[in-house]
Amino acid sequence: MTQSFPEIREAVAKLCAGFPGSYWQALDRDRTYPTEFVTTLTQAGFLSVLIPEEYGGSGLGLGAATAVLEEIHRSGCNGGACHAQMYTMGTILRHGTPEQKAKYLPAIASGELRLQAFGVTEPTSGTDTTRLRTFARREGDKYIVNGQKIWISRAEHSDLMVLLVRTTPREEAAKSSDGMSVLIVDMRSALNNGLTIRPIRTMLNHATTELFFDNLEVPVENLIGQEGKGFKYILDGMNAERILIAAECIGDGKFFIDRASNYAKEREVFGRPIGQNQGIQFPIARAHVQVSAASLMVDKAAAMFDAGEPCGTEANMSKMLASEASWYAADMCVQTHGGFGFAEEYDIERKFRETRLYQVAPISTNLILSHVGTHVLGLPKSF
Ligand SMILES: Cc1cc2nc3c(=O)[nH]c(=O)nc-3n(C[C@H](O)[C@H](O)[C@H](O)COP(=O)(O)OP(=O)(O)OC[C@H]3O[C@@H](n4cnc5c(N)ncnc54)[C@H](O)[C@@H]3O)c2cc1C
Repeated sequence: MTQSFPEIREAVAKLCAGFPGSYWQALDRDRTYPTEFVTTLTQAGFLSVLIPEEYGGSGLGLGAATAVLEEIHRSGCNGGACHAQMYTMGTILRHGTPEQKAKYLPAIASGELRLQAFGVTEPTSGTDTTRLRTFARREGDKYIVNGQKIWISRAEHSDLMVLLVRTTPREEAAKSSDGMSVLIVDMRSALNNGLTIRPIRTMLNHATTELFFDNLEVPVENLIGQEGKGFKYILDGMNAERILIAAECIGDGKFFIDRASNYAKEREVFGRPIGQNQGIQFPIARAHVQVSAASLMVDKAAAMFDAGEPCGTEANMSKMLASEASWYAADMCVQTHGGFGFAEEYDIERKFRETRLYQVAPISTNLILSHVGTHVLGLPKSF
């Protein structure tokens, strides 16, 4: 199958070759951030592909961005450390004032400002975002923010955060999704000045954290768009996020299929390559079929996004199909490698842990099925 953006793919693969398994294994062991990898990607311009040229980016569409992330993952690297730098700026691009765009976008494109943090999830509300409790109270030309967020990734490695807060209590809003607002938080001045960050150690190296806001002051000029309309702005950005993460899953799936095929051709047991046994060969072939099919849905969703068409359903479906295909491929790859699938130096157990995340974050499979069931098929709503 011909692949889109062959030059981008080739350049990304070349860059990733400089960051072999041993680099990721060492970081994974200590749960440290891949600063060198992220700097190299930034300098090569790959994290600013979605920023328009007038603001210093390459002005390409989501299709190009999916090619970048797919290749990163196919190479055995992990874009989770920096993918938000690509799309979180979309909230500013689509809904920011001309002053906000001029102030932030060129600096994000050059990497001078890192916009890696996206603060939505809270411990008590979970997926039910309209029940989030972090509240920004307006006082003169400032908002005073109080509350808590959880699972906010890369917060320690970001200069800015796009933060979703309530500015009107849910009970007083006309609709449950009204009364939320988006603020740009400057993490550099906020840290230990109303903002506390607590890292959470997880089964993968994802630099995720818990955030506590205690009378954090945010200038009113950092409000994006209209007060009270923030939920809509965040939803707009989520389609891009889901499609890009689906592309990472496609890359993971291809990584597992490449590794399993190569190993199954070389490893001999009972006097023949294990891949000659259909019990080994068919799961590899099935993984290829599933990843190829999911990849078509990712391409379709990205094309619709780039054409400015509503693509919430396709973004969700591509994320679900790709995350399930990559997980099947991960499991198959471990099984194909037998005991060696568990050895750190093969990178398979690391990628297995990494790709599992995507059935839960940024949106879990059940919530996608619920969207399809109720919004697409018209079945009765359960919530
Ligand atoms: C490593 C990591 C990084 C993350 N990074 C970020 C980040 O940078 N920014 C951010 O804002 N968030 C982030 N998240 C949060 C992530 O988006 C959420 O974990 C995810 O959306 C699921 O929400 P939850 O954990 O609150 O699960 P819950 O909402 O508590 O749900 C738990 C389970 O119940 C199911 N469930 C809930 N309600 C229903 C229902 N009505 N019907 C059927 N099933 C249901 C869900 O599908 C899920 O499987 C991250 C999470 C992780 C683990």
